[in-house]
Amino acid sequence: MPTFYTAEICMNGHITTGNIEHNPERRETYCHICGAPTITECPSCHASIRGDYDLADGDDIFSLRVPLRLTQPPAYCIKCGHPFPWTNSALSAAKELIQMSNLSISDIDFFNKNIDKILYESPSSTVAIVKIKKILEKVGKLSIDIIKQTLISVASETAKRILWP
Ligand SMILES: [Zn+2]
Ligand SMILES: [Zn+2]
Repeated sequence: MPTFYTAEICMNGHITTGNIEHNPERRETYCHICGAPTITECPSCHASIRGDYDLADGDDIFSLRVPLRLTQPPAYCIKCGHPFPWTNSALSAAKELIQMSNLSISDIDFFNKNIDKILYESPSSTVAIVKIKKILEKVGKLSIDIIKQTLISVASETAKRILWP
């Protein structure tokens, strides 16, 4: 059974450590990059945030002994499904950017209602993401780049493949 350690991540999504159990010295009450408070558990259900993980399997000498580093903050809680604070900030920022574009009301409405689908891997998400791609194609290059920067760290692998191949 793989072992998951607990991550500490700031409200803006900077990972201070993926392993508070073994690297307590790396913990920060406030993020050294942006000054935002850090959390180690889901604000909605209080489950620990999954960080680095160890594939070590009991006494198997061939198993991997070095924990795999958490390199990207998880988009949502695997216990309750709620997006984490950094995800909500990214989604709201993207919505604000779209609001400033010259898209039609119905495009903006679709974007706002469906942008959270980029977080999850599912067939219905895929359809929505393809539509979002079509909507983004109507927006200027600068806005597209800013939206990409805003969303890429919370997007699922499928969303990334469709939106930014
Ligand atoms: Zn930060
Ligand atoms: Zn939760």
